[in-house]
Amino acid sequence: MKHTTVIGAGFGGLALAIRLQAAGVPTRLLEQRDKPGGRAYVYQDQGFTFDAGPTVITDPSAIEELFALAGKSMRDYVELLPVTPFYRLCWETGEVFNYDNDQARLEAEIRKFNPADVAGYQRFLDYSRAVFAEGYLKLGTVPFLSFRDMLRAAPQLARLQAWRSVYSKVASFIEDDKLRQAFSFHSLLVGGNPFATSSIYTLIHALEREWGVWFPRGGTGALVQGMLKLFQDLGGTLELNARVSHIEAKEAAISAVHLEDGRVFETRAVASNADVVHTYGDLLGRHPAAAAQAKKLKGKRMSNSLFVLYFGLNHHHDQLAHHTVCFGPRYRELIDEIFNRDGLAEDFSLYLHAPCVTDPSLAPPGCGSYYVLAPVPHLGTADLDWNVEGPRLRDRIFAYLEEHYMPGLRSQLVTHRIFTPFDFRDQLNAYQGSAFSVEPILRQSAWFRPHNRDSHIRNLYLVGAGTHPGAGIPGVIGSAKATASLMLEDLHA
Ligand SMILES: Cc1cc2nc3c(=O)[nH]c(=O)nc-3n(C[C@H](O)[C@H](O)[C@H](O)COP(=O)(O)OP(=O)(O)OC[C@H]3O[C@@H](n4cnc5c(N)ncnc54)[C@H](O)[C@@H]3O)c2cc1C
Repeated sequence: MKHTTVIGAGFGGLALAIRLQAAGVPTRLLEQRDKPGGRAYVYQDQGFTFDAGPTVITDPSAIEELFALAGKSMRDYVELLPVTPFYRLCWETGEVFNYDNDQARLEAEIRKFNPADVAGYQRFLDYSRAVFAEGYLKLGTVPFLSFRDMLRAAPQLARLQAWRSVYSKVASFIEDDKLRQAFSFHSLLVGGNPFATSSIYTLIHALEREWGVWFPRGGTGALVQGMLKLFQDLGGTLELNARVSHIEAKEAAISAVHLEDGRVFETRAVASNADVVHTYGDLLGRHPAAAAQAKKLKGKRMSNSLFVLYFGLNHHHDQLAHHTVCFGPRYRELIDEIFNRDGLAEDFSLYLHAPCVTDPSLAPPGCGSYYVLAPVPHLGTADLDWNVEGPRLRDRIFAYLEEHYMPGLRSQLVTHRIFTPFDFRDQLNAYQGSAFSVEPILRQSAWFRPHNRDSHIRNLYLVGAGTHPGAGIPGVIGSAKATASLMLEDLHA
C-alpha cells in the first residue's frame, strides 16, 4: 500500500505520524535536518547537551495518550521529572517571585508584593480555569473547518470576553504591576503578545496548575527520541536529511512528494508540519490555489522571533532555579517594540534555562549547560542584519547575566553558540524568521487560522504551530489529534 507522508519531524509531525501509524496507516516521516525535533533540536558539544527550544513541558496527559494509543506506556520510553518552582521570576530591583503550584506558597508570594491581590488572584484562577475548560479541553483538539464551527463556539468565547487581551483581563483582577507581569507573560511562550493576544491564552495558567510543569530526564530531546522510537516500534519510516523540494499536485489532489536529492515518493496524502507559508508558497507554489493561499498567508501577522544563546560553563550555578524569567526595566513598551517596531531595543527581558538543576547529566560533572533567550522582532518587523546584531546581543546578554544572575560567567565559559532570526528562516524555513508561526490573535485563531485540512487540495493537511490550535507543545500535539481525526476519516472512507 502507498505510504501517507508527513513532512517535518517537529512535535506536531511526530505526534501525527504516531497517530496514523497506530491506526494502521503506513506512514513516512520526512525531515530535512539530520535529527528529528524541529524547534526541539538538540546540540551536543564537549559533553554538554543543549535542548534548542521547548523546555517547559506541560499537559503530560496529551503525550501519554500517544503511547496509550499504541498499547504502550510512556514510562517505558521517557521519564518526566517534576519541576519546582515552575518558574522563578526576577526583577532588576532584586524582587523575586517563586511561581509555585502549592496554593499556600503561591499566595504567600503574592502577599509579598500586594496582600490585596490574593483575593484577586483567586478570581483570576477561577477565570483561567473556566477558559481552560472551554478553550483547551473542549476546543483544543477539534478542527475548525467551517465558519459554522466558529459560530458554535462564539457564545462561549463571548461569555469569556475572548476579545479582551491577556493583560487587560489579568489587570482586571490584579492591581500590582509586577504581579500583572507575573500572570500575563505566559502567552509569550507561544508567541503571543500579552497586550494583543486573546484572553483565551490565560488558560496556560490553569493548565500548569492542573497538570504541573515537567522536564524529561535527559532533556526535551529524550522526549523526542521516545516519540520517535514509538513511531518506529509501530513500523513507521523516518527519513532524515530528506528535504522536500516540492509537492506534486494534479488538479485537486496530491500524487507525490519530491526531495531535493532527487528521490520521489508517491503518496496517498500529505500532512505538512513545515512552516505554512513555506508549504503553500515554496512546496506547492505551482498549484494556483496554493499560490493564492500563500499570498493570503503572507498578509497575516506572524509571531515574534527569538535570539537564543546556548552556553556551557565549567561551573554549576546552584543559586538558579530551572526556569528563570529575568524581567528588564520595561514591560509594555519593550513588548510593543518587539512586536511592532523597526529596530532592536537597548534593554531586554530574558528567559534563562538551567536544566542541570533538574538533571545534572546534561553537562560534565561540576559543570552546567544553559540557554538564555530574548524575544526579538521578526525580519518583517525589523529588517536587521543578525550577522552583526547577533554577536553584539550575545555580548550584551553575557555581561548582563554576569552582573545580575551568574557571577563569573564569562571566565567559566567552555562553549557557546547562537540561534538568530536568520536561523529560524534558513534552518527551519520559517517565514520572516518567526519562532512561533502565525501570531495567536483572535482574528487569526480557530477557523481564522490555516485549517487542519486544506479547502482546495483534497488530500493535503497541516499539523503544527501554523494550524489550529497553535504553537507550544500542547498546542501542536493537539493539532495532531485534530488533523489525525480528519485524515483517518478520509483515508478509511
Ligand atoms: C527557543 C524556543 C523555546 C520554546 N519553549 C517552549 C516551551 O518551553 N514549551 C512549549 O510548549 N513550547 C515552547 N516553544 C514552542 C514550541 O517549541 C513550538 O511551538 C513547537 O515545538 C513547534 O512544533 P511544530 O510541530 O510546529 O514543528 P517544528 O518544531 O517547527 O518542526 C517543523 C519541522 O519541519 C521541518 N521542515 C521544514 N521544511 C521542510 C522541508 N521542506 N522538508 C522537510 N522537512 C522540513 C523542519 O526542519 C522541522 O524539523 C518554544 C519555541 C522555541 C523556538
